[in-house]
Amino acid sequence: MRLKNKVAIITGGNSGIGLATARLFLAEGAKVAITGRNAKTLAAAVEELGGNVLALQVDVTDVAATEKAFAEAAEKLGNFDIVFANAGIAGETAVGKTTLEQFETVVRTNFTAVFFTVQAALPHLNDGASVILNGSVHAVLGIPGYSAYAGTKGAVRAMTRNLASELAPRGIRVNQVTPGATKTPIWNTRAMTEDAKDALEARFGSLSPLGRMSEADEIARAALYFASDDSANVTAIEITVDGGATSAP
Ligand code: NDP
Repeated sequence: MRLKNKVAIITGGNSGIGLATARLFLAEGAKVAITGRNAKTLAAAVEELGGNVLALQVDVTDVAATEKAFAEAAEKLGNFDIVFANAGIAGETAVGKTTLEQFETVVRTNFTAVFFTVQAALPHLNDGASVILNGSVHAVLGIPGYSAYAGTKGAVRAMTRNLASELAPRGIRVNQVTPGATKTPIWNTRAMTEDAKDALEARFGSLSPLGRMSEADEIARAALYFASDDSANVTAIEITVDGGATSAP
């Protein structure tokens, strides 16, 4: 029970990495709020988590709605010890084909909304809280078709370090999980055949020395380290869970 008596809020907690993290944090004794846009997957997540979770339907790109949802969560569960700004979209598009709207959507979701998620949490954060941002290996890898997405994740990486300094006077720690390719619905896995899933695994597994994609639960375990008192004197760092992809020659 590494999170006993702690209150956590996880954006994008209705799917993939966020859902795996909610499951793990609950098992470790935390009170958990999850947010998401999609009412159907939010309801499914609540059911999967045994009903033991506060679910809030909110679009993270809507700053006022995010502030309202965070205030509601704090009122119902208590002030936060853990904030996981996890919600994000992938947005694979070649530079020559990307519209301004597509570009702005990925920036607004993966970068702007992360900043304003932290801002919305701030009035409800306990001193000594742990803020965790979700980055990506794309911040340091060059993979065709991802320059807009990669830019947002590079920005999140820079933001982690700067927020860590800014919030340190309150004992608030800010760290980042950095997933490599991870098996979640971000890859449209819900609609994929088993063969297509194998092809995905082969494509991305081959990029890492350990030869496979990450599981959502493996990213959740890195988030748990940052969320727990095990990392009480750790701030401004990232844990990369990518099978070694970012260090491969
Ligand atoms: P999923 O698609 O499974 O989950 C994404 C989550 O973000 C969903 O819960 C989704 O909610 C939420 N979300 C997206 N846009 C919004 C929005 N505008 N408002 C509210 N919620 C939103 O993917 P993952 O679990 O893989 O992704 C989680 C994070 O991990 C992302 O930041 C992603 O960039 C990062 N990541 C993932 C990798 C991977 O290979 N899977 C690799 C590197 C980083 P809803 O469905 O309701 O819209």
